[in-house]
Amino acid sequence: MEKKIIFATGNAGKMREIRAILSDLGLPVLSMKEAGVDLDIVEDGKTFAENAKIKAMAVWKQTGGIVLADDSGLAVDYIGGEPGVYSARYLGEDTSYEIKNQAIIDRLADAKEEERTARFVSAIAAVLPDGSELVTEGTVEGLIAHEPAGNGGFGYDPIFYVPEYGCTTASMSSETKNAISHRGKALQLIKPVIGAYLETKGI
Ligand code: IMP
Repeated sequence: MEKKIIFATGNAGKMREIRAILSDLGLPVLSMKEAGVDLDIVEDGKTFAENAKIKAMAVWKQTGGIVLADDSGLAVDYIGGEPGVYSARYLGEDTSYEIKNQAIIDRLADAKEEERTARFVSAIAAVLPDGSELVTEGTVEGLIAHEPAGNGGFGYDPIFYVPEYGCTTASMSSETKNAISHRGKALQLIKPVIGAYLETKGI
C-alpha cells in the first residue's frame, strides 16, 4: 500500500505548485530529497514527454510506489521554439533567471508584436506501483513581455504575459496560475488516474 506520492523534482517552485494542485488526493507529496532519493538523472530525451518518463522511471526504480515527474519549459516561436527542453539549462544551469529572461527579451528586439507568441509546456509522467506508466501534457499560450514584471512564480514567469489576464504569470496569484498553467492542466489530466488507482487499493 502506497500512502504517498513522490514527485521527481528538486525545484522548490514546482513543488509548491504541485502540492497545491494535488492536495485533494489527500496523500503527502514528497520531493526527491524528502524521499531520500539522491540521483543525478540525465535528461537526454528529445521531448518533454520523454524526459518526464526518464525522470519518473529512474526514481521509481529506486523507490517503487507512486512516482510522478514533470518536464516543462518555455517555447518561444520567434527563436524556433527555444529554450524548449533546454529551459533549465539555457545559458547554463547556474545562470540567474534575471539574465536568462533579459536574454530572451533581447533576442526578440526585432520581433513584431504578433511574433512574440510563446507557450509553457508541461509533460507529467506517472509510474504506478505495478510499473505501468502514463504521460499527460498541458500548455498555456502567451506572449513574451517587453520587460520582466511580477514577483510570484519562478523561472520564466516574469516575462510570460497572458493577454486574457493582462499580466505575466509572475503577477498572478498562485491560485490563478495553477488554474490556467501548463502544469496545472497536465496534473488535472493525470489526477483521475491516480485517484482511480487509490480507490482500487482502498487508500
Ligand atoms: P525541468 O525542471 O527540467 O522540467 O526544467 C523546467 C524549466 O522550465 C524550469 O527550470 C523553468 O526555467 C522553466 N519553467 C517550467 N515551468 C515554468 C513555469 O511555470 N514558470 C516559469 N518557468 C517555468
